[in-house]
Amino acid sequence: MSTAFDDHHPPAADLIADCVHCGFCLPACPTYQLWGEEMDSPRGRILLMDAARRGEVDLNDTVVQHWDACLGCMACETACPSGVRYGRLIEQTRQQVERRYRRPWPERMYRAVLFAMLPYPLRLRVVAQLLALYQDSGARRVLRRSGVIRRLPQRLRELEALAPALSRRRLEESPPERSAVSVGRARLRVTLLRGCVQRAFFGDVSAATARVLAAFGCEVSAPRQQGCCGALELHSGREQAALARARALIAALEAGDPDRIAVDSAGCGASMKEYGELLADDPIWAERAAAFSARVRDVSEILDELGPPALPMHPLPMRLAYHDACHLAHAQRVRAQPRRALSAIPGVELIPLDDADLCCGSAGVYNLVEPGPAADLGRRKAASIATAAPQALAAGNPGCLLQIGAHLSLAGQAIPTFHPVELLDASLRGIPVERLLADRSRLLAIDR
Ligand code: SF4
Ligand code: SF4
Repeated sequence: MSTAFDDHHPPAADLIADCVHCGFCLPACPTYQLWGEEMDSPRGRILLMDAARRGEVDLNDTVVQHWDACLGCMACETACPSGVRYGRLIEQTRQQVERRYRRPWPERMYRAVLFAMLPYPLRLRVVAQLLALYQDSGARRVLRRSGVIRRLPQRLRELEALAPALSRRRLEESPPERSAVSVGRARLRVTLLRGCVQRAFFGDVSAATARVLAAFGCEVSAPRQQGCCGALELHSGREQAALARARALIAALEAGDPDRIAVDSAGCGASMKEYGELLADDPIWAERAAAFSARVRDVSEILDELGPPALPMHPLPMRLAYHDACHLAHAQRVRAQPRRALSAIPGVELIPLDDADLCCGSAGVYNLVEPGPAADLGRRKAASIATAAPQALAAGNPGCLLQIGAHLSLAGQAIPTFHPVELLDASLRGIPVERLLADRSRLLAIDR
């Protein structure tokens, strides 16, 4: 049969055949919600995969755009009663697109620059330091107020709007290589992922993760010699680069033979849990990858497993909204654990958010390569948060924190955002709620 795909893991016919075209996934799909187009729904995209597999359509601009517009949010997997593995299908499709479709040259250049930066923590660190200087010095505020930013080319304007609120003080924190358990004997030995974006922009979150795990009875190691997990490349169809990073990360983190591998970034955790399947064909790595994936947990899963900490938790009286990161709620099915952890903080009142598990538009590099729909979803998310009017918002993924923070700021909403572990850490350390909220609000105010 003539086909638009090559024979290296094309979207599998049996996975495609699992879709019975019932359409239950359509209302859950953010792009279908935005445009109401069948071909921008999970069912439509699967039909296109099938047509390409049968050679009925080429990998032309129109077909590829329908797949490119998919956020990879996996809301369709949650909604699908037939258990269609859409995530695997779109991953395999994107690998085919990267190998067999030639994007226009400006797009190729742009993506090449992105992937020459994003998986490299040291390069990102330089960017983060420059951004912090740009904000701390007041240059951002001056340029925004003077209208210079509005005259930049569209892509630069969008990137500038997404730049996270940083300060050089915030960037100085990172988890120590070893954290002893805070009280008593170790209940688990845990190795912590440092990540790439997380390491460069949110080292303070990972430092909080290490402290919280130690307070819950974990002996924590966070080896400095570790790289990116490959998630961003994997979700963009760059298979070989992603697999090379997976092998390197397995070698770096399995060395201490930990009981658990803790991740505080939902997108990374979802990919690391997939390593076993991704490397199943590799005779040297298959077994190690499967053993590695079996030990990977989101930090909230580990806290849930351990129960209450040995140290007292101090009150943080606040109305808090929780946003479900797609790669936590849909890809890893982790919804209750972070909510239970947050509810255990005395004084925290978790308030519901409309469409808490609807994608915020971040989705890995999506907001960088598909800025239009990403911004539409970011605005919707900011509006839904504003309606709930919490005093703060929590989310377990750095991409969501960047995207939501940027859109709350653009909407003039002074609602500070936190990773759940930052709130647990503040409670364990007895930081007064007023100081916690004021410090974060001050940081967000830097760029207004
Ligand atoms: S992954 Fe998300 S955006 Fe893509 S088809 Fe599924 S629900 Fe729609
Ligand atoms: S992906 Fe699932 S929910 Fe969507 S049309 Fe196919 S079978 Fe139905």
